[in-house]
Amino acid sequence: MTVAPASADVVVVGSGAAGGAIAFACAERGLRVVVIEKGSEYQRADYTHDELSICRRNFFLPYMADEPRTFREHADHPAGKSNFAWISCCVGGGTVHWSGFSYRFAASDFVGWPIDLATLEPYYARAEALLGVTRALNVHPLAKRFAERVRAMGHATEQSPRAILREATATRGACNYCDFCGSYGCETGAKGSSQEALLAPARATGRCNVISRTVVTEITKGADGRATGVQVLRDNGERHEMRAAVVVVAASAIESARLLLLSKLGNSSGLLGNGLMFLTVANGEATFLRRAGDPVFANGSPFFDVTARLRAGVVNFGFAHPNPIFNAEKLAGSGASAVWGKPLVERLRRHFREGLHVDFEGYSPCTRVDTNAVDLDPDVRDKWGLPVARITFKRPERDFAASLALATHGTALLQKAGADRVAEPSHGESLVVVQSGTCRMGRDARTSVVDAAGKLHDAANVYVADSAVFPTSGSVPHTLTIVANALRMGDEIARR
Ligand SMILES: Cc1cc2nc3c(=O)[nH]c(=O)nc-3n(C[C@H](O)[C@H](O)[C@H](O)COP(=O)(O)OP(=O)(O)OC[C@H]3O[C@@H](n4cnc5c(N)ncnc54)[C@H](O)[C@@H]3O)c2cc1C
Ligand code: SF4
Repeated sequence: MTVAPASADVVVVGSGAAGGAIAFACAERGLRVVVIEKGSEYQRADYTHDELSICRRNFFLPYMADEPRTFREHADHPAGKSNFAWISCCVGGGTVHWSGFSYRFAASDFVGWPIDLATLEPYYARAEALLGVTRALNVHPLAKRFAERVRAMGHATEQSPRAILREATATRGACNYCDFCGSYGCETGAKGSSQEALLAPARATGRCNVISRTVVTEITKGADGRATGVQVLRDNGERHEMRAAVVVVAASAIESARLLLLSKLGNSSGLLGNGLMFLTVANGEATFLRRAGDPVFANGSPFFDVTARLRAGVVNFGFAHPNPIFNAEKLAGSGASAVWGKPLVERLRRHFREGLHVDFEGYSPCTRVDTNAVDLDPDVRDKWGLPVARITFKRPERDFAASLALATHGTALLQKAGADRVAEPSHGESLVVVQSGTCRMGRDARTSVVDAAGKLHDAANVYVADSAVFPTSGSVPHTLTIVANALRMGDEIARR
């Protein structure tokens, strides 16, 4: 844990995709930046493939007893305690255990935004270069055959863009194709996490300090309504006020709204917290059996990574996650009856030797409605004594049709491309790790929370840099867009 300087030009709350990008943009432009992160900082050697620790015991997530959230579907329902929609809380935030799929938004995703795709394009290019986004990773021959067949059916395909380095650089290693990106940290530094790709170069300027295990409990204000800095609580119990010329909130769409509500800042429109969105997702899976003479297939090495662009949306095909316990559990319960012991071992052996298992995710937008929202729970507090985020969310009815079309279409593509077994797909689910809304960006202070630069309409020196500001969810996972938009906002802050 580094000792925090008492003041900075810019203090950034949160070190994920948004926090890392804004810190880099500001430090690169000569500003003194302090990033405050409530979680710990881990090193590459800490990123193991231990499914029990990482996935079963949620290594990267807060304990529910310490930092609960509450959830309900309607404002007139009681809200139950849960750990709903938390993602990794450590230096690097959710990008430590993200999968690295890095899509740009389409022009139509910006309808209702105060900026357009053309404004963001140079920042997308910069974000891709920093994260190391590529379409040149090694892919399995089956993926090539599958993509050819999908193209022959008249659909555009591409290798899925991923923030993963094929070749090592001076500071990051090359990918070893372990295929444990999703849910796990990367042991080589190849995956473009905020920690590796944004905070490391920000720190290298000599102007960026990252303070871990320290929670921001409030943004402090002067008599003129401007922020004076932040109140922090370190994990040794010490409280400090850190002064800063500019405060940037980058704590994730849910926590950014919560911190502003706790600080009684940014709600003159009455809209702060409203419009929470989770990307809509359809899921499916299929098995391609091994033919006589084929080598024994292994999932994962190299990747599958086929993106098909259909009229209803983007479908991303990949190998099923290699998590052994998850796979065993799924197989134990599949079929006519549950099995264990020797029959389960047989089933596992057959499963992994019989062929390749391919999953898909089909993405479609989440309609923004004001009633889906984050506010402060009146009854439940976290370990620091602060009211927790109360989440009210029900998927709007109109989101289901596009998702159903993607589920149906994705499954049909697998069938027509020669899959031997295709499972019943699901649709209309919430990809809760891809969250946005709550601090809408817009030109009109009556209908939005921040302006086009991400600055609160109500305070001259407080910015929101994450997907809380997105007026729409977009139609694909949005982390690349968070990084690009935060780089743009960082330039604005430095310019002002
Ligand atoms: C398993 C998984 C796979 C994913 N795969 C993809 C993918 O392939 N493609 C994609 O686009 N997206 C993916 N995502 C989503 C991606 O991780 C998020 O979109 C991204 O991390 C959001 O960035 P953020 O900066 O808004 O917030 P976060 O990354 O959540 O960072 C916020 C940080 O702020 C800290 N914080 C919060 N409150 C405070 C406070 N009061 N004081 C101090 N610190 C605070 C948190 O601890 C956290 O570290 C995935 C997510 C998960 C969990
Ligand atoms: S597959 Fe590559 S990028 Fe992903 S965790 Fe393994 S080494 Fe890192």
